Amino acid sequence: MDKDITVDKDDLAEKINRAQREMSVLYEISNAMRTTLELNRILYIILTGVTSHVGLGFNRAVLFLLNQNRSLEPKLAIGPESGEHAQRIWEYISKSNQHLDDLIKEEKIEQNTNPSALYQSIKNLKIPLGDGHKNLLAEAFHFGMPMHITEDKIAQYANDPLLQVFKTNELVIMPLKAKDKVNGIIIADNLFTRKPITENDMKIFIMLANQAGLAIENSQLYELVIYRSHTDPVTNLWNHGFFQNKLTEGLEFAKKNTQPLSLMMIDIDNFKKFNDTYGHQNGDVILKELANILKLSSRENDYVCRYGGEEFSMILNQTSKDQSYTIAERIRQKIEAYNFPKFSADQNLKTTVSIGIADFPQDAHTKEELINLADKAMYIAKFSGKNRTCLA
Ligand code: GH3
Ligand code: MG
Ligand code: MG
Repeated sequence: MDKDITVDKDDLAEKINRAQREMSVLYEISNAMRTTLELNRILYIILTGVTSHVGLGFNRAVLFLLNQNRSLEPKLAIGPESGEHAQRIWEYISKSNQHLDDLIKEEKIEQNTNPSALYQSIKNLKIPLGDGHKNLLAEAFHFGMPMHITEDKIAQYANDPLLQVFKTNELVIMPLKAKDKVNGIIIADNLFTRKPITENDMKIFIMLANQAGLAIENSQLYELVIYRSHTDPVTNLWNHGFFQNKLTEGLEFAKKNTQPLSLMMIDIDNFKKFNDTYGHQNGDVILKELANILKLSSRENDYVCRYGGEEFSMILNQTSKDQSYTIAERIRQKIEAYNFPKFSADQNLKTTVSIGIADFPQDAHTKEELINLADKAMYIAKFSGKNRTCLA
């Protein structure tokens, strides 16, 4: 009799202890998620919660988000590369006695995540979610239910696209939801410790996932609002305010690193006449298509902006005036040759642009001067016959 009571007490103490630990993990993670709206930080906090020994303690975890093409795409992965690597990390962590707060510090993000071999191994796995795609991730997405693939069942899924790249012995697939819609999925396993995943692990993981889904949605909405406040709704190009900010930043960077920066001003020729002939709405269609041509002709570091009305600007970082001239001429010729949709009996509807370029450090040292000179060069292009590029 006495003995039974002792066993129950121990058991109870262990349960209370565990419940306390779980509560504090959830509390800390939800607090951490409230400190930022930046998506990358949110994702990092979530996966740190899933993998750290002070969190749920899974060996590895990968977070997938739903992208614009309705596919699931890996965004972040945390986990050691091998058994030995895992051993080294865990020894270090248990000696250093780190708290969750320490683990989610800003500077840890880079070193702990994307360059990891785990991320490299899985980053190209994109799972389309249309009907007829039957695989583990698509199912977890459609049913919105967590899946626990135990060791005795995993062989059945050997041909699954996920398990082809994520080799493991047992795993959890956990959908993340906001207002009942799945917006992401976390997969997690214990490949190195081979610790079996328990009902209790699942229970606390579900609680974390509920918070994670909401935090991701909030952050995505926030980033969308920021993006919209920087773009022009007609052309989807950067707007004037954003242009001014980026030019200030670009010039500062150019001065500090003694690198050139060019500014291009691009104005549609005779656009008033176009509007008068075809109507303002068709004019807007031209603006959209031109914006598209400009975007496709620009490089990753360039900023293509709608300066105002039918005038565009392009910031070319680390680019001299001569290099910009080549790019401008390519753009101008592309536009000249482009067949716009036919609005009327006019079968070969064409439009042209005039372009002006000025640069730092040859032409100007301040933002105002640079804009002024690029604008002047553009007007010289207009006065000398339009459909041409002029340098300041
Ligand atoms: P130039 O070759 O000298 O540049 O002649 P232009 O007719 O293009 O220039 P002007 O400055 O005389 O007229 C600009 C025209 O651009 C007038 C205006 O109706 C049109 N425009 C400005 N913003 C928009 C817009 O958002 N949509 C449309 N459809 N037209 C616009
Ligand atoms: Mg014009
Ligand atoms: Mg104009």
